[in-house]
Amino acid sequence: MKYYSTNKEAPLATLHEAVVKGLASDRGLYMPENIKKLPEEFFDNIQNMSFQEIAYTVADAFFGEDVDPESLKKIVYDTLSFDCPVVKVTDNIYSLELFHGPTLAFKDVGARFMARLLQYFIHQEGKEEVNVLVATSGDTGSAVANGFLGVEGIHVYVLYPKGKVSKIQESQFTTLGRNITAIEIDGVFDDCQALVKSAFMDEELNNHMKLTSANSINVARFLPQAFYYFNAYARMKAQGLADNLVVCVPSGNFGNITAGLFGHKMGLPIKRFIAANNSNDIFYKYLMTGKYEPKPSKQTIANAMDVGAPSNFARVYDLYKGNHDAITSYISGATYSDQQIRETMSECYKSTGYILDPHGTCGYRALKEGLKPGETGVFCETAHPAKFKDTVEPIINAKVEIPTRLAEFMKGIKKSIPMAKDFASFKTFLMRQ
Ligand SMILES: *Cc1c(COP(=O)(O)O)cnc(C)c1O
Repeated sequence: MKYYSTNKEAPLATLHEAVVKGLASDRGLYMPENIKKLPEEFFDNIQNMSFQEIAYTVADAFFGEDVDPESLKKIVYDTLSFDCPVVKVTDNIYSLELFHGPTLAFKDVGARFMARLLQYFIHQEGKEEVNVLVATSGDTGSAVANGFLGVEGIHVYVLYPKGKVSKIQESQFTTLGRNITAIEIDGVFDDCQALVKSAFMDEELNNHMKLTSANSINVARFLPQAFYYFNAYARMKAQGLADNLVVCVPSGNFGNITAGLFGHKMGLPIKRFIAANNSNDIFYKYLMTGKYEPKPSKQTIANAMDVGAPSNFARVYDLYKGNHDAITSYISGATYSDQQIRETMSECYKSTGYILDPHGTCGYRALKEGLKPGETGVFCETAHPAKFKDTVEPIINAKVEIPTRLAEFMKGIKKSIPMAKDFASFKTFLMRQ
């Protein structure tokens, strides 16, 4: 399958090229040339299939032309070494728990898949070392660093905004060592993202070293996120609850929801989607006005969604051919202040006993407010609440238990390289590697 750029000014790429390059040469995002509809029999029988079987069917539709079946199956099965269960929270609201992976956030799925696919291509090619650059507002860095940890032939540089990620998040990518280097930028997330984008555009740097991205712009990271939407549908269908399914995705860079929208284009019967934002409401405003106006990001307690220029907007726009009516008829939005997030997290805990993380809270609230009679809602619980323990505990006035795998990270010693936010410093550093 060939991949085109959303800016339409770069040549078509193979999957291999799209995965290694990340971003197209015209700064657009890669899109698969066609999105295969899955057969009716698949959906008729989906409730009897395992998560891995479902995921392999979806993966085959995207990657089957470019990766041999046995390798693809192994990549999918290795990626999904944990479950993504759907858990009942209220009568008509369910939580799709995406935090059962190694770093307790949904990004584990895409990061683990990408690491394995990239390794597959590097093996095919022979030995060149590949350098992965990743900007993070918190969870991407940990998922990517852990997904790639110890993978031969790949070095990972994680750029993160100094003082703007939680201690727990920071420990997940600054304590690993080996092929993982953490760089602490004196700036905000958008500065980190801008540095990564500039690095890909710099000819001298690209001649010096082979660079690739692992941000949600990479097709190998964002497409596999479709797996768990299909699985959620299957698990809801098994309970007879899949007829009027509304899926709500707490969104920042919009990679996660875009994967769900791809699922729908493949025939997945989700009635509609809701994109829940924190006070970074660029997409919400777009839905209301038809105007896309990026802004500097604002810091919130749902910090993995503090994005002022959501990269994957370009993909959503392209998927619906820029038609605002088509977009708003299938996707609605919501935006919540920190105060509203606090209030909702507390209300949910009191009335149901379920502990939400700040991101999932936006999803839960958007369903509470937005479900119509007869609809059943599933929101993505994108991270385990223990990752945001310092925020969550005072709000719910109760202890959040830290899962063992998270506690392990916190025992490690932090190692990071401090850096200014100008591109010259970053480039000089990389040229010396
Ligand atoms: C990354 C992240 C999000 C936002 O996902 P996007 O794909 O960038 O929209 C939401 N919640 C958590 C916990 C995250 O880590």
